[in-house]
Amino acid sequence: LLTVRGLQKSFGSNQVLKSVDLTVARGQVLALIGPSGSGKTTVLRCLNGLEIADGGTIEIVGAEDATHAPVVIDFAPAHGKRAGVPKKALGTLRDRSAMVFQHYNLFPHKTVLENVMEGPVVVQRRPRAEVEAEALQLLDRVGLGDKRDSYPFELSGGQQQRVGIVRALALRPTLLLFDEPTSALDPELVGDVLRLIKELAGEGWTMVIVTHELEFAREVATEVAFVDGGTIVEHGDPKELLRNPQHERTRQFLHRLL
Ligand code: ATP
Repeated sequence: LLTVRGLQKSFGSNQVLKSVDLTVARGQVLALIGPSGSGKTTVLRCLNGLEIADGGTIEIVGAEDATHAPVVIDFAPAHGKRAGVPKKALGTLRDRSAMVFQHYNLFPHKTVLENVMEGPVVVQRRPRAEVEAEALQLLDRVGLGDKRDSYPFELSGGQQQRVGIVRALALRPTLLLFDEPTSALDPELVGDVLRLIKELAGEGWTMVIVTHELEFAREVATEVAFVDGGTIVEHGDPKELLRNPQHERTRQFLHRLL
């Protein structure tokens, strides 16, 4: 479903992503783990087109009914100059992936329902009535149907994050991206959000999750990749990698956490 090759990204002279390669098959869950500042969030932001990479390619396929052909976005500079990434390809990338943020990033002046409907109606230009029906169904599903007219500040962190997840689902993406979805939550609220993500994984959603919750990664991910210094140092089966890392840097990182 997703193939990333040689992805690079610099901020000024700081080369945050040196060369990232990864593949995620349909229905798989990839967990990205690694030290702070290693580039995990930047990988996700590039996958969602929130940051524009400056080298490499991202290939992402469309919905399962094959109505959308695979699209390849090439970030390689042509002839030593920035060629400019085609707007249409970037638009497709943004349309096919949806992000759940660490700090929820809900619009504070919009209600829960308005937050969920904004993307599908304004960006994707889908019919309002259809989007509303789907949004309400999704909110019901996560137990927040009665909060449709509440504002984000009236909700707990766990509830806000469930709205964040519903907002991503309402975009009908092919790929769900989670950026440390529970690290801003009080410990007693973490379980609900993790359970919901696990349910979605069980339903066959394809996901990339940046997480510090190793136990969760072990349980839910089909693959774990250890990111350090802007590259993927090693990747593999979660149980195997977490129990028996091959690289010294992975060993040190896990040793500090476990
Ligand atoms: P954490 O676990 O702390 O979130 P991370 O692995 O997700 O870390 P990133 O957030 O991807 O790491 O950041 C990697 C590096 O890129 C950091 O040094 C950060 O300062 C830098 N960086 C990220 N975004 C920007 C930006 N918009 N402008 C400048 N530098 C940035």
